[in-house]
Amino acid sequence: HAKDSGKGRYEVFDASMHKKVQHALSMEADIREAISKQEFIPYFQPILRLDNEELRGFEALARWQSDKRGFVYPNDFIPLAEETALIQAIDMQIIEKACQQVRTWQLDLGCSELYVSCNLFSQQFFSSNLPNQIKRILQRSGLAPKNLRIELTERALLENTEIVLTNMQALKEMGVKLLLDDFGTGYSSLSYLHRFPLDVLKIDRSFISNVHEHDNHRAIIKTIVDLATNLQMATVGEGIENLADAELLQQMDCMYGQGYYFAKPMSAVQASAYIQEKIQSNSILK
Ligand code: C2E
Ligand code: MG
Ligand code: MG
Ligand code: MG
Repeated sequence: HAKDSGKGRYEVFDASMHKKVQHALSMEADIREAISKQEFIPYFQPILRLDNEELRGFEALARWQSDKRGFVYPNDFIPLAEETALIQAIDMQIIEKACQQVRTWQLDLGCSELYVSCNLFSQQFFSSNLPNQIKRILQRSGLAPKNLRIELTERALLENTEIVLTNMQALKEMGVKLLLDDFGTGYSSLSYLHRFPLDVLKIDRSFISNVHEHDNHRAIIKTIVDLATNLQMATVGEGIENLADAELLQQMDCMYGQGYYFAKPMSAVQASAYIQEKIQSNSILK
């Protein structure tokens, strides 16, 4: 964070560095304003059963619908939001809106088993407020806890293990499901996995992408699926872009998947039409 990096940085005049600092500061100010204007919204990407393409739920992915900057993707605001801790407010805004939206679909369209899977920045698991924040969001939206999933990354499991574990257990006791996102990319020591109450491993896109052309990726995926099965966890493959990869994953007993091959992340309006198509073709868990 530019402001914390010390006076020394400003002593050497460097035009490009000056520009970068200016940019970060104006971006930070814009993010702050956007939080209060509620400009962060969830987009929804379907998660399906691979064997029959039955719709099970959506991952909620943050988008910034900015007055000033237009439509902004996570890669352009999440890193700075993490550095400045503004990510906490963004995450809560996305979870709240996603829970409300999915509850509305459940009631209006009759898909009461539909779930939503939301990303949480790892440091949120270091705060003892987390379970209560989530509980209040669930109460306000009326969504059943079992229809909410929280995606965390391996970064959350590496530090402050006590409080992280306490928070995870509290969420589990409420009935919320926990997923480990981007699995396989992190600092993976497989030995820690069994210590955390995880329901699902999401296999990172880097292994899934064109797996039908990469024997070594196939071996890694198979290992992850078998490990998950042994620990009574399910697996979701993410970033499936073609039929060949979808079929291969299914053959390797990966039960669920998401990716551009099925659908890109979409607005609530588009997702609503998507759900109705799935209902019409009887391809949704009710
Ligand atoms: P992620 O949680 O691993 O989400 C999956 C990303 O892969 C999404 O990118 C999604 O659009 C993209 N994706 C899905 N299928 C495919 C595919 O077939 N091909 C390709 N090339 N990409 C695919 P997105 O939406 O840009 O989000 C990027 C990352 O930003 C997320 O990765 C997550 O780490 C972070 N993020 C997004 N929303 C939130 C949020 O609300 N809170 C937090 N803390 N992080 C978020
Ligand atoms: Mg995710
Ligand atoms: Mg992921
Ligand atoms: Mg990711």
